[in-house]
Amino acid sequence: MNKMDEVPLQEHFEVEAGIASNKAYVAAAQTTCVHCSEMMEVICIHCQTGIATESGDSMTGCTVSNILVMDAALAAQLEVWPYFKPIEFGSAAGHYANHCPHCGAAQEDYLLHDEPGDVFFGLSQGGRRGIEFIPLVGSVQMSGDYTCES
Ligand SMILES: [Zn+2]
Repeated sequence: MNKMDEVPLQEHFEVEAGIASNKAYVAAAQTTCVHCSEMMEVICIHCQTGIATESGDSMTGCTVSNILVMDAALAAQLEVWPYFKPIEFGSAAGHYANHCPHCGAAQEDYLLHDEPGDVFFGLSQGGRRGIEFIPLVGSVQMSGDYTCES
């Protein structure tokens, strides 16, 4: 098990294995809720450039999913997307996901990222329409899964 499970998120500023970026964006798109089928906005984090915090490697075009921990700088800027929050598993907080504003259902990131045709699949290639990129200010850091161009 991950020891982060035992630490309240807001007290865990240190990201052990993740990505740091000073050229990060919120990618926002419209999709339909998996539960109630209402239209809703979903977001993810896309880093134009970034550094792998564990190896120090430079990376470009990284799309982050299943965010487990984020630093205060990122959390503060995501306050305007209150429906992007950790999935609640009983008392433990899980990874972040978009939640439907109509019915509250969590939209797991694998439904948005993993398959061709998913709203955030292939985001790095920039070929998809209807996705808005909102720049984040300053340097942000998070841990989660990420896929990069290089
Ligand atoms: Zn819904």
